[in-house]
This record gives sequence, C-alpha cells and structure tokens, in this order.
Amino acid sequence: MTLPVVTRFAPSPTGFLHIGGARTALFNWLYAKKRGGKMLLRIEDTDRERSTQAAIDAILDGLKWLELGWDGDVVYQYANAARHREVVDEMLAAGTAYRCYASAEELAQMRETAKAEGRTRFYNGLWRDRDPSDAPAGVKPTVRLKAPLTGETVIEDQVQGRVVWQNDNLDDLVLLRGDGSPTYMLAVVVDDHDMGVTHVIRGDDHLINAARQKQIYDALGWELPSMSHIPLIHGPDGSKLSKRHGALGVDAYRAMGYLPAALRNYLVRLGWGHGDQEIFSTEEMIEAFDLPAIGRSAARFDFAKLENLNGHYIRHADDQSLVTMLEDVLRYIPHGADVAAKINDTTRAQLLQAMPGLKERAKTLLELIDSAGFILADRPLPIEPKAQAVLTADTRKLIAQLRAALETVTSWSAATTEAAMRAFAEQHGLKLGAVAQPLRVALTGRTTSPGIFDVLAVLGRQECLSRLADQASE
Ligand code: GLU
Repeated sequence: MTLPVVTRFAPSPTGFLHIGGARTALFNWLYAKKRGGKMLLRIEDTDRERSTQAAIDAILDGLKWLELGWDGDVVYQYANAARHREVVDEMLAAGTAYRCYASAEELAQMRETAKAEGRTRFYNGLWRDRDPSDAPAGVKPTVRLKAPLTGETVIEDQVQGRVVWQNDNLDDLVLLRGDGSPTYMLAVVVDDHDMGVTHVIRGDDHLINAARQKQIYDALGWELPSMSHIPLIHGPDGSKLSKRHGALGVDAYRAMGYLPAALRNYLVRLGWGHGDQEIFSTEEMIEAFDLPAIGRSAARFDFAKLENLNGHYIRHADDQSLVTMLEDVLRYIPHGADVAAKINDTTRAQLLQAMPGLKERAKTLLELIDSAGFILADRPLPIEPKAQAVLTADTRKLIAQLRAALETVTSWSAATTEAAMRAFAEQHGLKLGAVAQPLRVALTGRTTSPGIFDVLAVLGRQECLSRLADQASE
C-alpha cells in the first residue's frame, strides 16, 4: 500500500511571503491536490530574534489571498523544541550523536587548519570518540551528529536527479546548541518525520541541506521523504532576482492589482511546463502538474508576461467578482480610501453595468479603477489636459445643443441615446465622431473611455445632463 501524499510548505517568518516562496507553496499544494493528499503548513520560527508576528501574518494572508489553503492546524516549529531535544537524547543513547566540548578558540583553530589544507570538513573529531569523563567542568556542550567519515551521501532528487556528496566533505553537524536549542537542520528532520511528510518540495538553495538531513535520517533509521529541489527564480537577464525585477512580497502583487488566479497561473509556468499551454484553470493545473516536468534551469521572471496574463484573467472574470476585487484592492493602495468613499449602492451598480466595457482594456485592477474614474468622479468633473484641448468655444456650443437634444430622450438607454445622437449628427451635417468626442470629454473628462453609449447609459439621464451643462456654453 502506498502512503497518502503529504507535502508541506515551511517558510521562515523572517520576512514577507516572497514570490519564490509563493511558487514553492503552489507546487506543494498542486502536488498534494493531484495525489489526493494533504499540504501542511509549518512556520519555522526557531530563529527567535528574526521571526516576527507581522511576517507570520503576511504569510498566512498571502496564502489565503492566493487561495492556497493548507490542511489542519498551522504547525509552529518552536513549539516542538522539547520533542527535538528528546530525539537528540535518543541519539546520544544510541551513540549516533555525541557531546562536543570544544571551545570557540579550538573550533576557530580547526577552521583555519581546514582552510589551509583546502578541506571543507573542518571539525577534526576532537570529541567524537572521547570519554565523556574528560568533559571540562562548567562547559555547556553542543551535541553533534556522528556522521559517516567515508562513503557517499546520495539524494535521488525528482528534479535534480541523482546528487552525490562525498562524506569526507561533510561535517559532524551540530544538532543541539550549547544553550540546548535545536538547530534548524535537526528541527526540519524531526518535524517532517513527525508530520508524516512524504514529499519535500522546496527551493534548490536547500539542496546541500538535503545531504545533511539525509545523514540525520540515516542516523535515526527513518526513511527519507521524496526530495524535489526546484530552481530559484531569476531576473529577466538571468541574474539574481532583484526588487525591480519582481523580488517582492505577495502583498505587493496584490496591491499592484493582480488577480490571484493570474498570479497562480504565472507562477506555475515559472519552471514548470506542459507542452505549449500557457493558460491553466486550477483544475487543469492540478491535472497536469508533476514533479519530473519541473526544469533544472533557473526560471526567469517577466513582468510583461504577468501583465498580459492578468489582462486575460480580467477579461474573462465575471463582472460581479471584478467589482468585489476592485473594492478589495482599495484597502491596499495609497488613496484607496478616497476611492472607497465614493462607492455606494448606486456607484456599485454603475460599476457593474460598465464592467463589460471596462474590463476589455485593463491589465490590472488599478487600471480598471483608473478607467472607472468617470463613474466615481464628483461634479464639476476634473478634465485631463489632453481632453481640455477638445473643449473650444465651438465644441462647448455643440455640447449645449446636444444637451438640448438629449434632454428630449425620456426612456434613457444606450439604444435611445444612440438614436438621438445619430439624428442630431445628421441634422447638423456632422460625423458621429465629431459629436462623440466632445461628449466623451464632458462626461468622462478624458479622450478615451468605454463606448460612449455605454457611458451615457451607465451615468444615467440626470447625471449626463448635469455634466453636459457644466461644460456647455451658449
Ligand atoms: N524554512 C526554510 C525557508 O524558509 C525552508 C525549509 C524547508 O523547506 O525545508 O527557506
């Protein structure tokens, strides 16, 4: 019988949930879903100095926003410290670990010597086989793993393939510090084992840790989970991902107006592929995802691609959910509160009505908010400089005449206002465009907007006539 799949996402809460972490979470989530398993969440908060509650909140918030839910309760690594110490006691009793009383000076000397001799294994085995009765009084020992001195440590990685380390290059690593606190390397192994993790999927910056962790698994007689180390995300030029190139927290993507579904779709394609397919629904992603299809070379982050994908998701999103997302994002952007203050039942209904036209052009929710500005604007409307140029003495006169014509329309809709405008243009020997542009400027303050008849319909008779009056002159 094969074990049910259990993956885990194990961020350290020392900073926000960055984009690479979000991709790791997504891969773990997808794999668990595909195999009908579980994804657990473990907050690795053993570094008490650098872990913060704000970072924990940002991680939980980011995962929820991306709709990457975890199974069961969140596990906090620090809470397991007693269990970690208990495992070390067992190892001491079994002789697979030992107490090391080396002083800071002795360790520094060992490092110097190893460096001079070009060795990566620096610990010279000083306390490895020494009689504990030699222990100096008053010194708090560390506990080290009695790692194999010869042979190889091998990881059969699902992404990297077979990776081999020579044991004589690997040190007897510290499991417990002098103050009794467990090291990260030990904590990860014990927690993964206790949580029943079957698949470890994480960034390839942890590959060397996998070798060290394998030695701890071996010492404990535990079975190593399946390992997958995914290449990191680089900048568009192949260099380390910089802030400018997208090394930002998930919260920053939310505030830039990206949709969670678009970001998931973008992230899944970073380093993983399924033929030429670019667009994946969540179901398709789960269906197609697999570990061996992850590439071994670093993925490159490309903002333009993300934007285009986001535009696709906006065009295909349903209007009501766009209104909801638009209102939601206002909480995360500067001046968002000012815009939110303009949203009420009337304007919300107008946003919904205008959405089919608005969503055609927007690549982000911020662009959507910007182009919906005419709905939320107060009279007299601020007129953009480019639009101001359209308002001449002649066009203002035209606006007055057009207003009079539109005033006769009683049953107000896109169709009836269109008919009135066409009749007006014909009567005055004008092209429709020559009438539509001054009208657009007077109604939206801009030279571009959704279709003018939709604008008329969305704003309604009274508001349109008032806005036209504001710009008209005899
Ligand atoms: N806590 C580690 C990190 O944030 C991940 C450890 C792991 O996945 O094994 O990089």
